[in-house]
Amino acid sequence: MRSLWSPDDARAEVARHGAMGVGEDLALRTYSARLLGADPALVLHGGGNTSVKTEARDVFGDDVEVLCVKGSGWDLATIEPRGHPAVRLAPLLRLRSLESLSDEAMVNALRQNLLDTSSPNPSVETLLHAFIGAKFIDHTHAVAVLALANQPNAAALIGEIYGERVACVPYVMPGFDLAKLAARLYDERPGALGLVLLNHGIFSFGQSARESYERMISLVSAAEAFIEKRPKLVASKAADCAPAGRTAEALAALRGALSQAAGDRWPSRWVLDLRDHGPARLLAAHPRLTEWSARGVATPDHVIRTKRRPLVLAAPEADLEAWTDTARVALDAFMADYQAYFDAGAARSTQPKTPLDPLPRVAAIAGLGLIGIGKSAADAAVAADIAQSWAETLLAAERIGEFRPLGEADTFDMEYWSLEQAKIGKALDRPLARHVVVVTGGGGAIGAACAQAFAAEGAEVCVFDIDGEAARRTAEAIGPRALAVVCDVTDPVQVEAAFDAAVRRFGGLDIVVSNAGAAQRGMIAELTPETLRASFELNFFAHQAVAQAAVRIMRLQAMGGVLLFNVSKQAVNPGPDFGAYGAAKAGLLALVRQYALELGGEGIRANAVNPDRIRSGLLTSEMVVSRAKARNVTPRAYMSGNLLSREVTADDVAQAFVFAALLRSTTGAVIPVDGGNVAAMLR
Ligand code: ZN
Repeated sequence: MRSLWSPDDARAEVARHGAMGVGEDLALRTYSARLLGADPALVLHGGGNTSVKTEARDVFGDDVEVLCVKGSGWDLATIEPRGHPAVRLAPLLRLRSLESLSDEAMVNALRQNLLDTSSPNPSVETLLHAFIGAKFIDHTHAVAVLALANQPNAAALIGEIYGERVACVPYVMPGFDLAKLAARLYDERPGALGLVLLNHGIFSFGQSARESYERMISLVSAAEAFIEKRPKLVASKAADCAPAGRTAEALAALRGALSQAAGDRWPSRWVLDLRDHGPARLLAAHPRLTEWSARGVATPDHVIRTKRRPLVLAAPEADLEAWTDTARVALDAFMADYQAYFDAGAARSTQPKTPLDPLPRVAAIAGLGLIGIGKSAADAAVAADIAQSWAETLLAAERIGEFRPLGEADTFDMEYWSLEQAKIGKALDRPLARHVVVVTGGGGAIGAACAQAFAAEGAEVCVFDIDGEAARRTAEAIGPRALAVVCDVTDPVQVEAAFDAAVRRFGGLDIVVSNAGAAQRGMIAELTPETLRASFELNFFAHQAVAQAAVRIMRLQAMGGVLLFNVSKQAVNPGPDFGAYGAAKAGLLALVRQYALELGGEGIRANAVNPDRIRSGLLTSEMVVSRAKARNVTPRAYMSGNLLSREVTADDVAQAFVFAALLRSTTGAVIPVDGGNVAAMLR
């Protein structure tokens, strides 16, 4: 690991923040906190914290000594100066003279001394930053250091590697007691560059931001060099036996098993994030996977994201049903084990505890990899990132000796600590959160509007389109987690592959908007057979291929599902020259009803949306002008020639699809989105 400190960048940050009234100390603090945050080998997702002791002006115009320390909810990778709220230092230092201080009293004291009371809560490790005299303090959960700090003989190893350069702090839960202990050990070793906290992480200090940061890098590098001298672990070839092509099926089956295990009591829909490379793969392929997985988290901070251990599953077999049955048994055992862990922890606790859901947040599938489990793709990615880092720490620790992290009781205290639980947002789910949706033809006007509308309701979105560039544009407009897949829906092989990609990305599927289509024109009596067949390929058979591929996944999950089809009013109200299109769409309407009839028993709903006269690839502005001219009306009058006298938009169609996805007791229905047209009304 090397220092990323750049004097030019540091100066530029001082100038940039200075222009906004931020002092040099805090500007450099922000700069080097971001350097730490950028490296996942140091901290992940809100982990770690940093501080600087400086002066700030209060309301009387007096300069007071303050500790600017990371605020709860900020991530070092993206932190801003206001992410280090200023707390008056003198009252914090006075707290050190107390014998004991409850967590509530500590949080209250921190908030009372904020210069700006609208700031977030200062870090739970604020008092440690206050009590240690150094000007700049950096704290990380560096992988290499955790590999050392989670050894049975960690203190001896740390002494061997660092000598007098660091003081070694036995494990104590963050808060007042840890702050006092760490400060005492710091005072006893005035020349130390840092502290290693057993089972927890590392602190470095310095008189300048650069000194503290570069000491962190050099201490972590020493640990890395120590590990590098040890022989590497190799994965067993025998365990590396996940049958090719079974990955998506196994993920969908796992998602279903999670849903059935959750039942009505816990959230039953989860998004998965598979990591099947690097340390995750190596760990999953190792014959000691089960034994290692029971050990615990690399640092207690991670337990709220990953639980204490992952769910371990065997390699997927050719007989997927048999594998799913064993996965269910393993999941039941995991949940029973978690309940026992909770009961034991709650019995020890002096305060009443409410159990969290007993479902895993990480699964390890032998031979395949590690899977993050979350209420959204972003959440699942956090769990997966931490799981990968855990695997890296564990493998490095086993190279040195034995990975022996914090025990169950201490881990429980951290998992059920109110100050930790406060870090997890409790925001209410949007209506389609936890759902995965596929939109075909997602690069076009209606498809893109659908993808946006589903994302706005919280769904994870996969955009399929024959035009890869268009699919990417739609996905990018939604956000970094939306998936774009190039797919010609008239080719069943490509359709299967595209759904496979969707399941590999999000772990399953809940809703399909089968939207891709195109209108072939010409008088019916003059159509070539090729034209008619081409229309049926795209406007009928492709929908069948999409529905079949979707149902296959939905059946693996056994969680029901929603099939939605863009049918068009042509199916019931033909227009001249649109025979090829209308005939195929009439067939499609029959297909929708057949799916509703035959799949209803499995909780899979099938509904149609019948849009008409929407500006899109099917109806371009030039076409609008020419048709309006043919009818001797203005384009505006042509587009709003319906009962409501309003132009119907792609957004209106998208809203109908979202609405149809939410109608839990409706199947076999047709929703017209045409502004009102008596001739296109059904029945
Ligand atoms: Zn920490």
